Amino acid sequence: MTQATITESLWWIIPGKLAGMRRPECDELDTLQAIGIGAIVSVMDDPSNLTFYESAEIPYHWFPTKGGAPPTREQVGAFRIFVEEQLAAGRAISVHCSSGRRRTATFLGAYLILTGASYEQTLDAIVQANPAVEMRAAQLNFLKSLVPPLYSSDLRKALSWVVADIHSKGWAQGTGGNFSAALSHQPTTLLMTPSGVDKGLVQPDALLEIDADGQVVSGKGKASAETLLHLAIVESTRAGAVLHTHSIFGTLLSIHYAPLGEIVLSGYEMLKGLEGIRTHEAQVSIPIMANSQNMVQLSQDIRCLLQQRSGLNGLLLAGHGLYAWGDTLFQARRHVEIIEFCLELAYRQLTLPKIT
Ligand SMILES: [Zn+2]
Repeated sequence: MTQATITESLWWIIPGKLAGMRRPECDELDTLQAIGIGAIVSVMDDPSNLTFYESAEIPYHWFPTKGGAPPTREQVGAFRIFVEEQLAAGRAISVHCSSGRRRTATFLGAYLILTGASYEQTLDAIVQANPAVEMRAAQLNFLKSLVPPLYSSDLRKALSWVVADIHSKGWAQGTGGNFSAALSHQPTTLLMTPSGVDKGLVQPDALLEIDADGQVVSGKGKASAETLLHLAIVESTRAGAVLHTHSIFGTLLSIHYAPLGEIVLSGYEMLKGLEGIRTHEAQVSIPIMANSQNMVQLSQDIRCLLQQRSGLNGLLLAGHGLYAWGDTLFQARRHVEIIEFCLELAYRQLTLPKIT
């Protein structure tokens, strides 16, 4: 069987930017440069080709990797940086091992995952680009291990990670706050943090499954008193996740602005991180409701508010904290981060001396 030409062997994982190929011969470098490859990455375990690249003055990097084996995290981290540097310099990059089907695919897949793709999207993209790719189990497992828990298809893992992350930011100290993700709509079932558990320590298997009546249907532990509020929000907005924080700025500002019934955030570039907000000039209203220990009444009030006002991403309970939500857990987390950030800005702005 004759070897495919280097052009035939080239497969673009990101068209015009990043590709894989078999090991090129010295006399094929001109062809590669003619079709726009400006930099080369070798993931062979021997340095045989490097002198060609050196003498052709093609920018290159070598990440020695054994055949069939996965690379290391450090290697793929450095690979990502090399790719980004070359792209910034206007050069497309091609990666090669011997056949361009295993080690090469693993590096290209790692790049996609490190820049935000899910494991499934990555495998799809690879198969589309080159159906001949045959990664080994160790290489596939390596790719899986690179996916941050937030992007995991396992909702328990993702929610547990989000809760610990929010805790680490100081927005849900101790047992404060509660967090849920919808497992289903109609009927509503939630995956939710149990009551009275330190929010820095909620493991994936400690999350409870809660039905539409707020009853625990699986898992050990007690449902939070605020479960009815999560159900009210999920059922009124079809949110995929509801994240409730007890932050310093949420608590202070919700008391301060309670007489106005809302806090209006405006003028901050970061507001564009909220779904549907395109400009810093937007007026983003976060309604403030009176706090109460009567969860039945409070959940009805929330249903009422959400019926009257569509397009909200969050609400505050005075002296208590923020409820933020989104279509997905990913979006809900973004909304919490943006709103908490803007609340801190709003608080600090109040304390600045007036310019006369
Ligand atoms: Zn609370």
